[in-house]
Amino acid sequence: MRVRFAPSPTGALHIGGVRTALYNYLLAKKNGGKFLLRVEDTDRTRYVPGAEQYFYDALKWLGISPDEGPEQGGDYGPYRQSERKDMYAQYAYQLVESGHAYYAFDTPAELDEMRARMKAEGIHMARYDQTTRMSMKNSLTMSDEEVKAWLAEEKPFTIRIKIPENEEILINDLIRGEVRFKSEELDDKVMLKGDGMPTYHMANIVDDHFMKITHVIRGEEWLSSTAHHVYLYRFLNWEEEMPAFAHLPLILKPVGSGKLSKRDGKKFGFPVFPLSWNGETEEDSFTGFREEGYIPEALINFLAFLGWNPGTEQEIFSLDELVEAFSLERVNKAGARFDIDKIKWFNQQYLQEQSAETILNTIKPLTEAKGWTASDEFLIGFIDLMRERVQFATDMITDGYYFFEPVKEYDEKMIRKKWNEKSKKALTEYANVLLEAEDFNAEALDQKTKVYLEAKELKFGDLFPILRIALTGSTKGPSVFEMMSLLGKNLVLERIESSVGKFNANT
Ligand code: GLU
Repeated sequence: MRVRFAPSPTGALHIGGVRTALYNYLLAKKNGGKFLLRVEDTDRTRYVPGAEQYFYDALKWLGISPDEGPEQGGDYGPYRQSERKDMYAQYAYQLVESGHAYYAFDTPAELDEMRARMKAEGIHMARYDQTTRMSMKNSLTMSDEEVKAWLAEEKPFTIRIKIPENEEILINDLIRGEVRFKSEELDDKVMLKGDGMPTYHMANIVDDHFMKITHVIRGEEWLSSTAHHVYLYRFLNWEEEMPAFAHLPLILKPVGSGKLSKRDGKKFGFPVFPLSWNGETEEDSFTGFREEGYIPEALINFLAFLGWNPGTEQEIFSLDELVEAFSLERVNKAGARFDIDKIKWFNQQYLQEQSAETILNTIKPLTEAKGWTASDEFLIGFIDLMRERVQFATDMITDGYYFFEPVKEYDEKMIRKKWNEKSKKALTEYANVLLEAEDFNAEALDQKTKVYLEAKELKFGDLFPILRIALTGSTKGPSVFEMMSLLGKNLVLERIESSVGKFNANT
């Protein structure tokens, strides 16, 4: 098995492209095959510098780098179409010679004229096809001498495929089953452009053939081109080695209908690109999943489920487990709705599984950037307290800032509700208990507190809400004893003391 991911470097790789790469990767690994990356850069007008590097960086970050490609090399290179450009034209000419394609000399003005003419006849999707080709300036309507003369004069031309009449093309798609196209529905697509460069269709088929691709797995938007591709294999006599096709379902918007677009990310406030991308304009620049603090394994797991399911209840899969479980038979035909809450959920699950040391690597630079000084030991204690309460490692910093600096904001409504004679007395007395405490670990604090509450006939509710507010500003947060133990005696007492004044002023 040899599969390929064949992006065009026209910009950053969005989430749909990443999923295509992932499914190719999974299928290749599952079957002991090879996963290729081919850069389809024949359209120089749409070439965006940096896009190719982005592909490599994104796949690397996600851990699904190809076996063969421009970076890795391989026996079937070069893997960049611009470096293969000399080999495509001969196949376009071969098609002309065998009568399956023709020279078209129409000028842009003549093409416009044809479209206007068709429009006047009520046909809005005007095309160069079997209904229009005989009214155009091409080697089917010109005499041989004229064609020779025009070629000799180097008049600009394109080469178009000649789609046969009255045929049906059957594609056995591995996901969609039998898909049929009538040849009348197909236009005479350009194979070789005026500048001598091949179109996507021509280059793609030549490359898939010579790179010995066995399975073409790509987005649904390419399904309608596949009939043309089948014709190309037939016309070039490569039909026997034609790859199998599998067209992946669309990724749909989180709400409403239609395909998820890169603009939807901005609209709904979530990333749709793996890594950040600085485009030419603000509009064309995007924040990536990586920069938003997502764990790559979580993104992989999420993307695997965007169109596929294992048929069991299991949701958490490592990359190796995905390789094991993946099959095209379990890929859905129907579009898959993009659910941002689901990927946050996956991220949370993976965050719980990561080692504290791994999270430390994420957290440490962030705390340093804030100017906070803390030992690794303290940070690990902090991570252990906070990780269960957040979906992203970065949220720990925002939610748990009070481990590093004084409380900035107090829940005043809660203070008004909980600050009364009884709780005031409880908190001040409790401070004295803490002052005397020799052991400041969570367990000892727990014991000591229970004894104190019992002796004073106090309830948890008389002390804890107000104690929490004193320490963190709110009644929410991690276990209070663990927290006190990490903050340490001095800081805890300091916070209680300064809070009493604040609470008094507040009520
Ligand atoms: N270059 C095409 C793209 O950008 C490749 C489509 C295919 O896989 O055939 O998606």
